[in-house]
Amino acid sequence: MASPHVLRGLLDVLHFSGLTAAARGSLQGAGSIFCLHHVCPGGGRQKHFAPNSKLEIEPAFLEAMILHVRKQGLETVSLGEAVARLKSGAGTARPFAVFTLDDGYKDNAEFAQPVFDRLQCPYTIFVAPRIAEGSCELWWRIIELVINTGQVQTEINGAKFNLTCATDAEKWRAWNILFPLIEAMEQHGQRSYIRALAQAHGVDVDAYCRAVAMDWDELRAINRDPLCTIGAHTLNHHAVGKMSEADARQQLAGSRGIISRELGEEVRFNAYPYGDEPNATARDFRLAAEAGYEASLTTRKGVVFAEHAGHLQALPRVMVSGRYQALRYVDAMMSGLPTALLNRFDRLNVA
Ligand SMILES: [Zn+2]
Repeated sequence: MASPHVLRGLLDVLHFSGLTAAARGSLQGAGSIFCLHHVCPGGGRQKHFAPNSKLEIEPAFLEAMILHVRKQGLETVSLGEAVARLKSGAGTARPFAVFTLDDGYKDNAEFAQPVFDRLQCPYTIFVAPRIAEGSCELWWRIIELVINTGQVQTEINGAKFNLTCATDAEKWRAWNILFPLIEAMEQHGQRSYIRALAQAHGVDVDAYCRAVAMDWDELRAINRDPLCTIGAHTLNHHAVGKMSEADARQQLAGSRGIISRELGEEVRFNAYPYGDEPNATARDFRLAAEAGYEASLTTRKGVVFAEHAGHLQALPRVMVSGRYQALRYVDAMMSGLPTALLNRFDRLNVA
């Protein structure tokens, strides 16, 4: 993956050369599905060690984005409406923009919902039962919290680490060592490792999850907003592509059953956690269909084309990063040109 600086540079070149404007129409396809996580004041703008800041945007940027995509001629519709248009073949009439938020954080209700409501913009939140119950190991955040204790002592694959994390530079160094090793762990082993690491450093995994995630009452409350759709995000935020078929099936089907029961309505849509390759594969697209989802969202980069009607369990999304909070980046991404370049102008990346 290109570094943020290289990618930002590429997006700037495309924007200022006028190429993104020229691409509009031919490459922007049926529409764009935007992927967000946290929406909170100051989100993504941190200057200190904040390795997860890309998962955060400010409410003002969300508002600016919605107004901007509408000004560019996109129609903000619900995920259900977008899928219905794809199925009916009407998807290319006027391009759509769909806003989605993964994981179900409390800040979605506090800071994003008021923006969506004020602008009458539909949105979908993908939730996982273990996150809502406050027992999910949100490991990418736990690593950050452990590093912020100032000293990390651990052993991974037989290698011992004793990392001083006093300065920002030391914290980044520790992050760059630990994150890839922990990301690569087998899914269940990863969670038991992170619980032991947290306990050894005085970090409470469940307390953190309860503090940031909406519980079932809060999810039922936001789901009463007619603009809101709740979708599934596996049982425990697992990379299904890295699991056995039986485990992946349980994650995909089990979450649909539990969320439907808790909300008292049928869950129609799914988003694969992490969502890119190899975290969600062709096998998982089949399992999602078998679990009864009408459509599923990946984080494979791209805009949606009419041809995706035949691949509804593998819809691409446009990631909105806290480190790219400028409308010209949104413009460039939804023009379809950067992803067309990445995908070598293949419209479909669904295998
Ligand atoms: Zn997620």
